[in-house]
Amino acid sequence: MPASPLDPAFIRDLDQDLTSTSTATVQVVAPFSGRMLHELPLSSKADVEGAFARARFAQLAWARAGFAHRRAILLRAHDILLERRERLLDVVQSETGKTRGQAFEEVFQALSVTRYNALAARRVLAGRRRRSGVPMVVTTRIHYRPKGVAGIITPWNYPLSLAAMDAVAALAAGCGVVQKADNQGALSILALRRAFIDAGVPANLWAVVAGDGDEIGGAVTAEADYICFTGSTATGTKVALQAARTLTGVSLELGGKNPLIVLDDADPVKAAMDATYACFSSLGQLCVSIERIFVERGVAPAFLREFQAATARLKMGGGFDYSADVGSLTTQAQLDRVSAHVSDAIAKGATVLTGGRARPDLGPLFFEPTVLSGVTPDMECFGAETFGPVVSVTVVDSEHEAILAANDSEFGLNASVMSGSAQRAARVAVALEAGSVNINEGYRGSFSSVDAPMGGVKQSGLGRRNGPEGLLRFVEVVTISRATGVLSLPRFGSDFARLAGPLLLLAGVLKAVRRR
Ligand code: NAD
Repeated sequence: MPASPLDPAFIRDLDQDLTSTSTATVQVVAPFSGRMLHELPLSSKADVEGAFARARFAQLAWARAGFAHRRAILLRAHDILLERRERLLDVVQSETGKTRGQAFEEVFQALSVTRYNALAARRVLAGRRRRSGVPMVVTTRIHYRPKGVAGIITPWNYPLSLAAMDAVAALAAGCGVVQKADNQGALSILALRRAFIDAGVPANLWAVVAGDGDEIGGAVTAEADYICFTGSTATGTKVALQAARTLTGVSLELGGKNPLIVLDDADPVKAAMDATYACFSSLGQLCVSIERIFVERGVAPAFLREFQAATARLKMGGGFDYSADVGSLTTQAQLDRVSAHVSDAIAKGATVLTGGRARPDLGPLFFEPTVLSGVTPDMECFGAETFGPVVSVTVVDSEHEAILAANDSEFGLNASVMSGSAQRAARVAVALEAGSVNINEGYRGSFSSVDAPMGGVKQSGLGRRNGPEGLLRFVEVVTISRATGVLSLPRFGSDFARLAGPLLLLAGVLKAVRRR
């Protein structure tokens, strides 16, 4: 298996875009082959501080340049991404070990969020009038001021799309970006950034740094005017605590233990096919993928038969084409975690319905899509996120029991409901404690709807990316009120004595005409 179809000179050229003045590097391994992909330069704390200083300077002109200028550049970047799509697919696959199909989802998502933010920013962030407190006496407007330079911290699993979902929104809102890449995802981010620089984004406006999470991630958190963190709940909590010291705003996109409910009126064949993709896309290394299935008893035998068969049929492989259905895990740590969750479940009495084994014959980090039954609370994989190709199936007796079981989690990121009745599915959807719920789909309905917010409740996060909500993270709202001079507001006791009656009368009139 080749480590990568990428030309080493192309990789070296991209690596040079990383902000690093030190000679320290780290070897990044290609998951498909286990061979070295590249030596990534590492950044120091001084590099992070320098990157913020340069980005702050560049941001002043970027914010002043206005929406039309930014939109034109971002739309040009969209077209460059489109032109370079095959190369981007190679980069994402080389670093993550995912299939070309799942890499395609990343590139498509990057295109969607680029287009969305370029075109939506003015509508969402243009200043506008608000109702004044005292008509004619004052007028009131709100103005959105870019926060400055955002610190964006991302994990390795969806390096291209996660970077785009935060960075492009920040740029569209008039902010600069200093991004801390995970070592395993840095190349994808650098390739994404290169398209934007080639489109006209000033090079100093978007810097990429890499290195130790605590040291370099901590330095980014310390310097940023706003922080977008994506990663585990444990690290997200650390970032939030650090940000609290300087009262810096944060959005936290964290882990999940996402449930899928199959109601007894669902088509078992379609539900099984959709569940297979929802559980094993990117081999489960996806924050919104499904790790728990609750199926109503009436449909359970048919669903389980189809789900097991569909899972067993998945073609696992590492090619740089569309021939495989599922790819490889990304790192040795991931393989260790997945293997530990499965061994622990088996040791404590779970049954493996499908899969359950590593596949070193295919490559060093392959692990079979695995379906477990009989998973109980004493098992690691019951409540903790596996972040791998492992799903538990539990048969329940009612819709109510399914909802209670699905909500019995510290997480609340994504959920899915399969049903033949739109009404019933909608009733269940609103009862689920999650930031997104997909009906008759696993996660792609909400994930692709970039005009709608994405995020989690409970331990799955704080704040939302995408949609207007995602853009509004990057601005301060300033309320600007102007006294018109037509009349003066009361200043002295004698003024109040004269005006209290008319003002109270005005309050009554405003209520009568239902003016807010
Ligand atoms: P992680 O928390 O270990 O690392 C995420 C990033 O944080 C990395 O770049 C890391 O270097 C950096 N980091 C580590 N310590 C830091 C610190 N003290 N300060 C600042 N940054 C620090 O997560 P991971 O294992 O790389 O990613 C997997 C996790 O991410 C899973 O839990 C998954 O569910 C979650 N995730 C969530 C979403 C979402 O949108 N909700 C998306 C993708 C992944």
